[in-house]
Amino acid sequence: MISALEQYDPQIYELLRQEAARQSGSIRLIASENYVSKAVMIASGSCLTNKYAEGYPGKRYYEGQQVTDLIEIIAQERAKKLFKADHANVQPYSGSIANMAAYLALVEPGDTIMGLSLPHGGHLTHGWKVSLTGKIFNSVQYEVDPKTGMFDYDQIADLAKKHKPKIIISGATAYPRAIDFKAFGEIAKSVGAYMVSDIAHIAGLVAAGIHQSPVPYADVVSTTTHKTLRGPRGGMLLCKAEYAKNVDKAVFPGLQGGPHMHSMSAIAVAMAEADTPEFIQYAKQIVKNSRAMAEKLLECGFELVSGGTDNHLILIDLRNKNIPGKKLAKALDRAKIVTNCNSIPNDPASPFNPSGLRIGTAAVTTRGMKEEQAKQIAEFINQVAENIDNDTAIEKISKEVLLLCSQFPVPEHFIITEK
Ligand SMILES: *Cc1c(COP(=O)(O)O)cnc(C)c1O
Repeated sequence: MISALEQYDPQIYELLRQEAARQSGSIRLIASENYVSKAVMIASGSCLTNKYAEGYPGKRYYEGQQVTDLIEIIAQERAKKLFKADHANVQPYSGSIANMAAYLALVEPGDTIMGLSLPHGGHLTHGWKVSLTGKIFNSVQYEVDPKTGMFDYDQIADLAKKHKPKIIISGATAYPRAIDFKAFGEIAKSVGAYMVSDIAHIAGLVAAGIHQSPVPYADVVSTTTHKTLRGPRGGMLLCKAEYAKNVDKAVFPGLQGGPHMHSMSAIAVAMAEADTPEFIQYAKQIVKNSRAMAEKLLECGFELVSGGTDNHLILIDLRNKNIPGKKLAKALDRAKIVTNCNSIPNDPASPFNPSGLRIGTAAVTTRGMKEEQAKQIAEFINQVAENIDNDTAIEKISKEVLLLCSQFPVPEHFIITEK
């Protein structure tokens, strides 16, 4: 398969080779990234990319759905079993579209929605002003407590009472602590709002049972499939039976055309993988690694938003180190440690050069790294921060990073990284 690509399009082949080498030859700490298995990779690169399947199993607009119907039903069933949900829609192209569909399934444009503000860890699609969700809905945003960096559920309840939103969104993209979905659900109920929970980041932890699941409390749960859940890029919606029709209609024909069947088949594979004891071990190790990394960072004098972590994610507040987030992220990238700079709650700096750095442990955990390596990585981060303007020192650190990477190979895939 790959030699055909090499022959037909050597330019793209060479770039894929370089990217595969970059992914295996660097420590990937981007909290939303992971490495999928070879099985997931094969399914997502299959002949299903050739097939249109607008509609749902048994109700398609085009013929030739003998196989696609079976695949979609399997994906739905696996999603329902894994997350203990009444209904699953496995068609959303991404987490962003899944969120939009969740809102449109429950309320009308112009209605009030309430989500976590972006600089406090929320996602764009939780009603942030530049997102369509902030434009077509009347968006109210809650924030984390400035002292603790965590949710103050009483404050959120007060804000909900004041604004009477029709939807409260629980979930985050840069929140290092456990989320009490039950408490959010009670707040929503107390003001007659629907609750949409967005578990894009923590879906793998929820599936493994090591983070509280929102499924019993939320009207609709939205997720991506490619973060801790470790599937291909995609989105998914889970909901109570009573909203099934509305959710399905919101996805298709409300927002999308034909579903990406190749991704859907790979999502099905990933969910079978997630329904195993090995996956539970992986999810537990993610949190152990994250805690070990956080502990070491604290020892090195870093300040962490909320003081630590309960999940896969750590948000470093760099203000006491006097290093801008972008500068540290760039220096780390030269040391082959890939991260992203990130706003911290009430960040005095601009979102283009914020005061924080976000890291996550899902990808390194997939490579088999444990607490010892997590601590070593924290040390590397500290060394880079201490030698931020010293190119020779950073070059030296990158050699040690490469050595660590070579001991923890990435899951096998199509592209040969060595020339
Ligand atoms: C990543 C993320 C999304 C969006 O997912 P895409 O697949 O990038 O569209 C939505 N919500 C949260 C909380 C996320 O972290």
